Amino acid sequence: MQVRSADVLADAIEWSNKRGIPRFVLGGGSNVLISDDGFDGLVIKMAITGISYKDGDDSVVAVVGAGENWDAFVADTVERELWGVENLSGIPGTVGAAPIQNVGAYGQEVAYVIEWVEVYDAANIKRKRLSPDECSFGYRDSIFKHEEGDDLIVTRVALRLKKGGEPNRSYKDLQHFFHADEEPTLYQMREAVLEIRRGKFPDLDEAGTGGSFFKNPIISRKKYETLQKEYPDMPGYELDGGSIKIPFAWILDNVFDLKGHYERGVGFFEKQPLVVINKGSGMAEDVHFLTQPVIDRTKDEFGIDIEREVTLVGNR
Ligand code: NAP
Repeated sequence: MQVRSADVLADAIEWSNKRGIPRFVLGGGSNVLISDDGFDGLVIKMAITGISYKDGDDSVVAVVGAGENWDAFVADTVERELWGVENLSGIPGTVGAAPIQNVGAYGQEVAYVIEWVEVYDAANIKRKRLSPDECSFGYRDSIFKHEEGDDLIVTRVALRLKKGGEPNRSYKDLQHFFHADEEPTLYQMREAVLEIRRGKFPDLDEAGTGGSFFKNPIISRKKYETLQKEYPDMPGYELDGGSIKIPFAWILDNVFDLKGHYERGVGFFEKQPLVVINKGSGMAEDVHFLTQPVIDRTKDEFGIDIEREVTLVGNR
C-alpha cells in the first residue's frame, strides 16, 4: 500500500501488528534485491512528501518527506545555492532511504549534513526524532540496517545545508573533470557529477541494477600491508582511525577478472564491476548464483568477509 501521511502509516502499522504480518518499507526500490518468491507480507510504499526550508545565519535546514525523490531534492538545493549534497547528485531513490544506507558518493555522505531523522517506531507506536548519533551512521550503514532499527520507519529527514561552501574534488574523476586552477560553482559540481555518472553507470532505462552490490571492505592497516606484499598495486584509502578502505571493484577486475563477466543474464558491469546489472532475463537467484562465489572466494583468498550493499527482501 502507498502511505502518504504519518497517520496512514500508523494505521498500517496497527493493522499489521494486530495480525502479526511482516512488513517491508519500500522507498524507490533502487537498492533492493527481491526474492523470486516475492515478499509474503505488507509492503508499505513510502510516499510522504513535502519540502520546507528553515533559514538560519549561514545555513538552512531542509525538512523533507521520506517519499520525496532524492535527486529532485538535490537539484532544488543547488537551485537555492545550498551546499552539502551536490556530490550526491544523480543517486536514484527516495530521501527516506538516504539515511538508511547513509548514501555516499565522491567524498560526501548524507550523514555529514543530517540534523535529525523523524521515524515512526512501530514497536512502541510513537513518532520520534533521532539525532545523528542515535542513527549510528557508518560507511553505507546506520541503525536502520540492524536489528535495533527493524521497527523504525523513516518519515521525514532534516538536513543542514550551508549557504556557502568549498567544492569537494577529492575523487579523481572530479579532479580530472576540472582544471586544477578552476573554482567550480555549486551548479557546475552537480553537472560534473551527473556527467561522470552518465559515463560510468548503467542507464536505468536499459538495465536493472541495485547499484553497488557489495560494500567496499574496510580492513586494518596491518592486513592491508600484508595483502600489498602479494598485490602491490592494490589501492587503499585511509579512513579516520587508521583503517583502510579497499575499492572492491579493483579486486573484482584485477584479481578475479570478473569485469564485464555475465552469467544467466546478470553480470558485473563493464564500466564499474562493483555494480551488478541485469540485462533483462535475470532473476534474483541468478544474482545470487553470480555473487555468492565472490563472497566465498573473498573469504578464502583474502580472509575478508565481504558484505552486500543491497538489501535482500523475502526468502532467498
Ligand atoms: P571511483 O572514483 O572509481 O573510486 C573507486 C572506489 O575507491 C570508490 O568506491 C571509492 O569509495 C574509493 N575512492 C576513490 N577515491 C577516493 C578518495 N579520494 N577517498 C576515499 N575513497 C576513495 O568510484 P566510482 O565507482 O566511480 O564511484 C564514484 C562514487 O559514487 C563513489 O563514492 C561510489 O561509492 C559512489 N557510487 C555509489 C553507488 C551505490 O550504489 N552505492 C553506485 C555508484 C557509485 P567509496 O565508494 O567509499 O566512495
